[in-house]
Amino acid sequence: MNGCRWSVRYRMNGFDCTLEISADDSAEVMKRSTAAIDYLSKKGAVPVAEPTPAAPADDKPPLCPVHNVLMKRSQIHGGWFCSKKLPDGTYCKEQVEA
Ligand SMILES: [Zn+2]
Repeated sequence: MNGCRWSVRYRMNGFDCTLEISADDSAEVMKRSTAAIDYLSKKGAVPVAEPTPAAPADDKPPLCPVHNVLMKRSQIHGGWFCSKKLPDGTYCKEQVEA
């Protein structure tokens, strides 16, 4: 066996989070995941079973082809923009439409 992986999605303080646990054997993963769930529920985290309906289906930021960094969501047009600056001090022109 080549290791075992376990992941959970939860929401805490309004943030969607993913916790991933991996170990060499399943017994160890189960032990850690049980402890993690115990910890998270004490902290007030709630499980996220379904994607939030309001969120866009594909919410993964695209990469700026120039700077190779994750782009940021624009509050104005709902698309994506690159927050890096060019050598001349202006912002990167790369954008992805929503
Ligand atoms: Zn860029």
